[in-house]
Amino acid sequence: MKILRIFLFIIFFYSFSISASPIKVVNQLENTEDELKVLDNTSVVYCSVKDLARVLSTTIYENIEREKLVLYLGEHRVKISAGTSFLVIDDIVYQIPSPAIIVEGDIYLPTTALFQILHDTVLPTISYIVENNELVIIPTEYNVQSIQVDEKVNGTIVRVKTLKKFKKREISVFLHKNGWFYLTIQGAVADSNNILKTDTRGIVKKISMDQLEGSLQLAFFLRSDIERHEFYQNKKTKEIVITLWAPLSKSVARIKEVKSQWEIDTIVLDAGHGGKDPGTVGKYGTKEKTVVLDVVKRIGRLLTKNTNMNVVYTRDEDVFIPLWQRTKMANENNGKIFISVHANGNRNRKAHGFETYLLRPGKTQDAIDIAAEENAAIKYEESRNGKYEELTHEGLILATMAQSMFMKESESLAGQIQHELNKELKSPNRGVKQAGFYVLIGASMPNVLLEVGFLTNPDEEKKLRTAEYRQKIANAVYRAIIEFKKSREFVMAEG
Ligand SMILES: [Zn+2]
Repeated sequence: MKILRIFLFIIFFYSFSISASPIKVVNQLENTEDELKVLDNTSVVYCSVKDLARVLSTTIYENIEREKLVLYLGEHRVKISAGTSFLVIDDIVYQIPSPAIIVEGDIYLPTTALFQILHDTVLPTISYIVENNELVIIPTEYNVQSIQVDEKVNGTIVRVKTLKKFKKREISVFLHKNGWFYLTIQGAVADSNNILKTDTRGIVKKISMDQLEGSLQLAFFLRSDIERHEFYQNKKTKEIVITLWAPLSKSVARIKEVKSQWEIDTIVLDAGHGGKDPGTVGKYGTKEKTVVLDVVKRIGRLLTKNTNMNVVYTRDEDVFIPLWQRTKMANENNGKIFISVHANGNRNRKAHGFETYLLRPGKTQDAIDIAAEENAAIKYEESRNGKYEELTHEGLILATMAQSMFMKESESLAGQIQHELNKELKSPNRGVKQAGFYVLIGASMPNVLLEVGFLTNPDEEKKLRTAEYRQKIANAVYRAIIEFKKSREFVMAEG
């Protein structure tokens, strides 16, 4: 292998020798002239990468053993490998017409292609004039760094990040009927690799750029018509901000769409258990399924009477509904809040009070036990195969992640419910807790599980048998929903 390498080296060395007519380098940036080594006896002119690094005063990393060079140009990396017909610039592959050649520990590349690629990507400040065999380094550095596109309800905002403040007359925009919107900045030089990586969205479908003599042209291909456009340069951030306004009719429709998505207009009330599943049963024979159905109906009546929100009951009579079907119903009805109402049970008959749960891995043994008890409802489901992922720690973390976007809101709803119940009831406030409840999994909306009290506590059971006590609970939950809706819609208006 080594002998072969030496042999190849001799062949190369013999057939290509370093030219007597190097490329002239005119550095207008530093007002100096220099020369760049090239190879002779090649069909196209090859120039030295190491010499280019020297001329550009950039860092180079060499691994001659593996016949590789890496050129560091600002934050960009240009990887060159001998024997291959491509360059890799920041992980993007560029084709060159003939393979890179290694001679005397240096790699040589076809000059015209190399400079064209560098100019188009990471070095817009150089240009190669073939006729004069001259490389010109223009006295500018990037002053346009990147572009950010943001979609808003009524249009799209394009932010062009620049490093200097341009004069107003140096910036111009133009909307062509062919669907392209042009921004021309005189004296601008863009970091094209960054620009071409911009994520497009909203009205902007595609971005292209042209580094012209003395100016930069950015072109934005628009997905749809625009109502109007405007731009300004932010004095502080130096961004050029272009606003592309969506057609009025479209933006009104979009505002409505967004609003209806967020507006709390449908409340899903879930009475726990039902039918063959009684839930917890108290000493005096009070069944959880009966208490919670009555409470839920009282909450629903308050909402229907006093607001124009829709109320969806997962059950409004004594029937058995599988847990998975309850969140499915909630999602299908476009629910904006899901409240599952239950009554508690505990081996300790002294335990009493109310608490609200969030779907999260259980923290305390008590919470885990309660979740286990409520989850046991699935034993009444005949065909539950594959309906429930085992609520292992991992499964629960996944389910929790899917809900994390609603978690903050679920927390505030739970807090609000506890707060209102505390004002209404004399029972102890056991606070907001967390555990893994099947019934909450899969709800695409803020969701909580409320335990109104302990049927296993004879005193609390007695209270829960009375209509007044149930109405108090309903009043509190109703007020919590109203407060939650208010605060949520206030945040929306702010945002
Ligand atoms: Zn229950």
